Amino acid sequence: MTKTGRAAVYDAPNTPFAIRNYPVRDVEPNEVLVRITMSTICRSDIHSYLGHRPNPCPGILGHEIVGVIDQLGENIIHDMRGDKLAVDDRVTWTEFFHHGESHYRDIHDMPQKSPGVRKYGHDLVADDPHFLGGFADYCYILPGTGILKLPDDISDEEATPLNCGVATMISVTEAAEIDIGSTVVVQGLGLLGLYGCAIAKARGARRVIGLDSVADRLSIARKFGADVTFDIDKMDEDELVSAVRAECPPDGADIGIEVCGHAGAVPVGIRTLRIGGRYVIGGLVNPNSTINLDGNLILRNWITLKGVHNYHPRHLVQALDFVMSHRDQFPFADIVDSKFSLDELDEAFARAADRSVLRAAIVP
Ligand SMILES: [Zn+2]
Repeated sequence: MTKTGRAAVYDAPNTPFAIRNYPVRDVEPNEVLVRITMSTICRSDIHSYLGHRPNPCPGILGHEIVGVIDQLGENIIHDMRGDKLAVDDRVTWTEFFHHGESHYRDIHDMPQKSPGVRKYGHDLVADDPHFLGGFADYCYILPGTGILKLPDDISDEEATPLNCGVATMISVTEAAEIDIGSTVVVQGLGLLGLYGCAIAKARGARRVIGLDSVADRLSIARKFGADVTFDIDKMDEDELVSAVRAECPPDGADIGIEVCGHAGAVPVGIRTLRIGGRYVIGGLVNPNSTINLDGNLILRNWITLKGVHNYHPRHLVQALDFVMSHRDQFPFADIVDSKFSLDELDEAFARAADRSVLRAAIVP
């Protein structure tokens, strides 16, 4: 009898998920089949679900996934780090995959921007091998994916956000060149911002200032390395800029990081920087995020402005190392603050979309 698995299918934006069964075939030599133990709802899943950005449908959303190896292709021997892989090992993997020619990978060391790169949670469920997203019983790991074995003592709650949120923030903070003694402003204290605060501290930041409008997030950010937080709704723009700059004497912050997803936050963040400051955009994932910016301010103040999208496979390795070495200092497991079954995916998305939960986990 053919083995089957369940998937919560995303038929169209703003419509309920439908649970359907699909066949689970044996793996090809360069593939791995994983039995999903947990996946989490990323903000970008919500953008897709609400129709703010195009995503193939019907499909399976979800790219923050961990699970145990159910079947291992005969050519898959080691993970990215050289650890031997075996059936029943728990693994995470890069949220994107690409194989074949890529000048971006070979010349520019940006495999994540290879032409034709594909991402988990962005494929049609009707096509073989059906299972290429997080909200399902199974997921195939296809050739060109970086696989990473998980240590036994990391929990699923700590491990699931590694391959999107945490690795992305390793990439963003690397691009920001946070150094010992840096002062860092983080705009947006969702999962990306909380990890951003914690990684900034781990990279040696002297002072981390977190900005958001959700009271719970301002208080939890203190547990994730933010030295001070400001509620952006409690003051006007000039007051906010002055308050942040006062925390970074003598003339403003070294680094600004946007992970709130609002284009309007960028000019405000840049105003908090000192001359020679650096600003990284990490959250404007939707098209048409137009910024109204005074180019003369960028010129006069020698501002470096960078965009960061996705991450290099090395950042996933570093994400795991960061969490393993700082899990006593920061309560990473608390970020995943709610759990739902596959059948409860509609409720999970509603709660995640209205921000009444920080990171919703699906345990199939
Ligand atoms: Zn994501």
